[in-house]
Amino acid sequence: MSKFLLPTLPYNENSLSPIISSATVDLHYGKHHQAYYTMLNNLIENSEYESMSLDEIVIKSFQEKQQKIFNNAGQAWNHNLYWNQMSPNGKTIIQSKLSSKIEESFESFDNFVQQFTTASLGVFGSGWTWLVEKDNTLAIMGLPNAENPLAYNQHALMGIDVWEHAYYLDYKNLRGDYVKAILENLINWDFVENRLS
Ligand code: MN
Repeated sequence: MSKFLLPTLPYNENSLSPIISSATVDLHYGKHHQAYYTMLNNLIENSEYESMSLDEIVIKSFQEKQQKIFNNAGQAWNHNLYWNQMSPNGKTIIQSKLSSKIEESFESFDNFVQQFTTASLGVFGSGWTWLVEKDNTLAIMGLPNAENPLAYNQHALMGIDVWEHAYYLDYKNLRGDYVKAILENLINWDFVENRLS
């Protein structure tokens, strides 16, 4: 019996196209995200981790340097947020508590997109770029591999996968174009706003 099951996507595999093609979603969600769940279930079987929530496993395996468990739990968690924060029609950011915080923290939405894209290009190799909320302000964090804000006791509002598997089919080596296209077309800002504390 598998303890954790891959959550269903909140939209059809072809509905993020052309920003993210159905071929990429099929591979990224159906193969990569699924594989992290399969590996995690295998690794925690009959261990102390078996009775924990996914959040608890991420935190504890990171603290205890259980690298294999952390890699798979972290990636399961990261991709859950990644898929859920997007919506097929995309949404332009509207005047809201979130847009005010973005303006306070980054001067403007365009400047935020620029800084987030630059941070994404600065992640060497595989990793993620995160928007985090801390001390009533917002910040951008680039982290390697499976690492996420939760592992560092920080609160993630949004995160973009910058592993090559996330963008190579659609954007080849143009990571910055991929990140900018998601920020400007696919992020469901209502969902992000709902994660504000
Ligand atoms: Mn990925």
